[in-house]
Amino acid sequence: MADKITTNADGVLQVTSNPIIPFIEGDGTGVDIWPAAKLVLDAAAAKYGRRIEWMEVLAGEKAFKETGNWLPDETITAFRDYLIGIKGPLTTPIGGGFRSLNVALRQILDLYVCLRPVRWFQGVPSPVKRPEDVDMVIFRENCEDVYAGMELEAGTADAEKLRSYLHDNFGWDIREMSGLGFKPISKFGSERLIRASIKYALEHDRPSVTLVHKGNIMKYTEGAFMKYGYQLVRDEFADVAVGWDDCGGKPEGKLLVKDSIADITLQQVLTRPKEFDVIATMNLNGDYLSDALAAQVGGIGIAPGANINYVTGHGIFEATHGTAPKYAGQDKVNPGSVLLSGVLMFEHLGWRDAAADIVRALEATIAEKIVTYDFARLMEGAREVKCSEFASAIVDRL
Ligand code: NAP
Repeated sequence: MADKITTNADGVLQVTSNPIIPFIEGDGTGVDIWPAAKLVLDAAAAKYGRRIEWMEVLAGEKAFKETGNWLPDETITAFRDYLIGIKGPLTTPIGGGFRSLNVALRQILDLYVCLRPVRWFQGVPSPVKRPEDVDMVIFRENCEDVYAGMELEAGTADAEKLRSYLHDNFGWDIREMSGLGFKPISKFGSERLIRASIKYALEHDRPSVTLVHKGNIMKYTEGAFMKYGYQLVRDEFADVAVGWDDCGGKPEGKLLVKDSIADITLQQVLTRPKEFDVIATMNLNGDYLSDALAAQVGGIGIAPGANINYVTGHGIFEATHGTAPKYAGQDKVNPGSVLLSGVLMFEHLGWRDAAADIVRALEATIAEKIVTYDFARLMEGAREVKCSEFASAIVDRL
């Protein structure tokens, strides 16, 4: 009998060796990458006497074809009940009533952390000289900021109503025919994100957390995020962490919490990557930063991600790339992103042994230049293999 993953009274995940985990195969190349990733995840788990009971749930095109609904209630209920799940990429329905299925899942389950670890794997082709210096973990706020979806289209009655209200009540002159959008950044939302990043840094022996913001311009949103972060360190973590200004940059054995303006951060993660460990930032900055960093270590074909609520225990681990429809069903693309999301999920479940085995086997496979097309076109002397063959090669090296 397989078991539900639960949390105990302290909110800590309780995972047996035979957990039930819902998965969404994903649209487009999901049919290729999901079976490949599953093969490796199952083999690595089996080495330690564990067996995952995979439970398919539907979303995206497959759901629409079978149920007429892009995101059936059963899928949301499954993720809610079973706490931890994994998903392939999903098509964004055009005119389907959703801004994005991914965003909908994050908002419905209040998955407030988008976790994006970015590190280089030996042998992966990279456009920078020292990709090994990149080893960062991005905590991107997932529910607020301009992603909250509060926008009004230029010229509509609502936009005009708001424009007049702002003029009459705040003296703000906004040009006619302006689209209007809100950028809510709350104390609650900022604190819970930064709290999660600090706890992660402490648990994983990381020396610093950098709060990335554009507070020099957006003082009451991005600037406030930074201030909330520093105050949180004083209020909740004073014994183990310290803010830059409170220690003059000398943390004396504690976790150092510092901050950096978003534009210069995008330069420095490229020129001085060693200065960044854990990064905590708001939704839009986090979006740009995670893709820019993924490029430094080999691109989106292998970048993993997760959406987590550390309070309720809910987490959905996901491929960070899209459905790449032109390659769908060709057994061609790199399964690395969804596979490494599975590795992240194993780490989150406390299965660090199996997670480390997969990483070692993946590195060994790439070191032997056995790779999918995306890496093969950037590597000399590579042996290009199919998606499924790449997965089998990893299993052989587990
Ligand atoms: P995409 O599907 O990510 O594809 C863009 C390019 O990235 C591909 O043409 C390919 O590059 C490369 N790529 C993607 N997956 C790869 C893999 N597994 N291995 C190697 N290379 C890979 O982006 P898109 O074409 O903009 O979006 C297509 C659909 O996906 C849209 O409906 C979009 O809304 C959706 N989407 C979903 C998610 C998600 O579910 N998380 C994220 C982004 C987009 P080359 O052409 O150079 O080979």
